[in-house]
Amino acid sequence: MVFHMPSFVTYMLNEVISLKLYISADMEGISGIIDPSYIDPDRGKNYERGRRLMTHDVNAVIEAAVEFGATEILVADSHYKMSNLLIEELHPQATLLCGSPRNFSMMEGLDSSFDAALFVGYHARHGIPGVLSHTMSGVIKNLYVNGQVVGEFGFNAIYAALCGVPVCFVSGDDQIAQEAIELCPSISTAIVKRAVSRTSAACLSLSASARELKEKTKQALTSVPLLTPLGVKVPLELAIEFAHTGQAEMAAIVPGTEYRVGTTHVTFQAQDQYELYKVMRAMINLAGTVEFC
Ligand SMILES: [Zn+2]
Repeated sequence: MVFHMPSFVTYMLNEVISLKLYISADMEGISGIIDPSYIDPDRGKNYERGRRLMTHDVNAVIEAAVEFGATEILVADSHYKMSNLLIEELHPQATLLCGSPRNFSMMEGLDSSFDAALFVGYHARHGIPGVLSHTMSGVIKNLYVNGQVVGEFGFNAIYAALCGVPVCFVSGDDQIAQEAIELCPSISTAIVKRAVSRTSAACLSLSASARELKEKTKQALTSVPLLTPLGVKVPLELAIEFAHTGQAEMAAIVPGTEYRVGTTHVTFQAQDQYELYKVMRAMINLAGTVEFC
C-alpha cells in the first residue's frame, strides 16, 4: 500500500484549499426507502417519493462537502437506469452524471484526478439480511474479485482503488455499514436506517438522517489525507456464481471466460479495472436474458 496524499488538495491548519470529490449514488440505502415500490421506475407506486428521498440524501452530503471546502463534485446517479435524481432540486455546486448505458456503470467518470469517493444510498450484498440486499442484478448469487466475495460496495471500492482514489464514506443501513468496515476499516459510515428484514427497517426521520449524513461526510473528509486506497493485486480474477447453470452458460459466451460445465461459476482474468467492470457487465447482461422456467 502507498500512502495517499491527495494530488492537489492542500490541508493547512485544517483548512481545505481545493478538494475534488466523486459521489456514486444508489437508491436502496436511501433514508426511508424500504421496499421495491420506492425504487422501480416502471411499477413502483412510491417511486416519485423515492426520487425525492434520494435527492435529499445526496444534497445533504453535497452541502456538507461544500461547507468543508469541496470545490468540484461529480454525482453519478447509479441506480437501475441511472436517471433517478431530481436535477431541479440538486445542490447547485454539483454536476450530475445520469443516464445509461455507461461503460463503467456506477463508477463512470472516476479517474485519478479525484481526491476521494463517497458512496451514498448503498446496500448490502446478496445473501446478507440488509434492506433490499443484492449484488448488481438478480442473476448474481456471489461476486468474487481475487477470491474475495464482494458486493457493489466492494467491487466499486476495488475499481476506485485501481484509479488511485480512496472511498472515504458510505451511507445506507447498518448492514452495509458493517460490510464496508470489514473491507475499509477507516471508512466513515452514515447509518440512516436499521434493517429489520429485507423489506423493513427502523428509519431515521429526514431531519435526523440529514444531520447524520452531514456529520459523517465532514468526518470522512477530515480523514482523506490519511486514507490509502485498498491494496489490490493485478491481474484481477473475476468470478461470478450464478443462480443456475443456464445463466452461467450464457455468461460464458463472453470471450476469455472459463466455465466448467455443470457448475454455476464463470471466471475471467482481467488486466485492469476497466476490463473487470466491462466483462462483469457483459456477463450479467447476457445471463439476464435467460428465462427461468
Ligand atoms: Zn445497487
